Amino acid sequence: MELDIKLIDDNGKRLDGRSAEELRKIKIEAGVLHRADGSCYLEWGGNKVLAAVYGPREAIPRHTQNPLRAIVNARYNMAAFSVEDRKRPGPDRRSREISKVISEALEKIILTEQFPRSAIDVNIEVLDAEAGTRCAGLTAAGVALADAGIPMNDIPVACAAGKIAGQIVIDLGKEEDNFGDADLPVAISPRTDEILLLQMDGHLTVEEFNKALDLAIKGCHVASEIQKKAILDKYQSVKEAE
Ligand code: ADP
Repeated sequence: MELDIKLIDDNGKRLDGRSAEELRKIKIEAGVLHRADGSCYLEWGGNKVLAAVYGPREAIPRHTQNPLRAIVNARYNMAAFSVEDRKRPGPDRRSREISKVISEALEKIILTEQFPRSAIDVNIEVLDAEAGTRCAGLTAAGVALADAGIPMNDIPVACAAGKIAGQIVIDLGKEEDNFGDADLPVAISPRTDEILLLQMDGHLTVEEFNKALDLAIKGCHVASEIQKKAILDKYQSVKEAE
């Protein structure tokens, strides 16, 4: 799309003043809801996301049960008030797609075989949306799962990279997502760098793709440190209160 604003200025700065490899500010708090088994509140730039985990518990209806492992039901929902023009409430194609890819990513890292016939519900509520909500939601879900004590190989984390104004940059903001050339959300297991989710919107050459993937993985590691700190902070404060 032809655009009269420059996504990258002559000094290499992006619209919000970030450099190409700079993430938006991330803030994570674990254990914010008292009735959920595990929860997390996360802010990532202008995104505000709540994640709540229930389970493992008996999967109902029973025909959904798997005798060998737990099923993971992630439900991603964007609140009607989370975007500029009120969004029609309820599930749509986009939220179903995101729920599916997040469920599949989480199933790869949760030790589901320990809980046959069970369900683990992961609710992701986007309260404010400003691009990158699937990565923010998955990152919040990782902390909520750890907070719920669900056995996992690792705490899953996500970050996107993309292409704007011909350059590969990390963590696209709203205008960059709207007017950029490509977006590549990636989720990994940070201990092994195993890829749990990878999607691509737009076009990249193989070289650009590899560069964007490396950058997204770098971003995942930054977010992973903030996740771990949020979990440590919660258990530190629980210990101090004892
Ligand atoms: P992600 O949020 O994971 O980047 P998309 O690329 O589909 O997913 O969406 C990019 C951004 O577009 C969202 O974060 C949100 O700010 C905005 N958006 C998505 N769906 C809607 C909608 N129905 N109405 C208004 N804005 C939307």
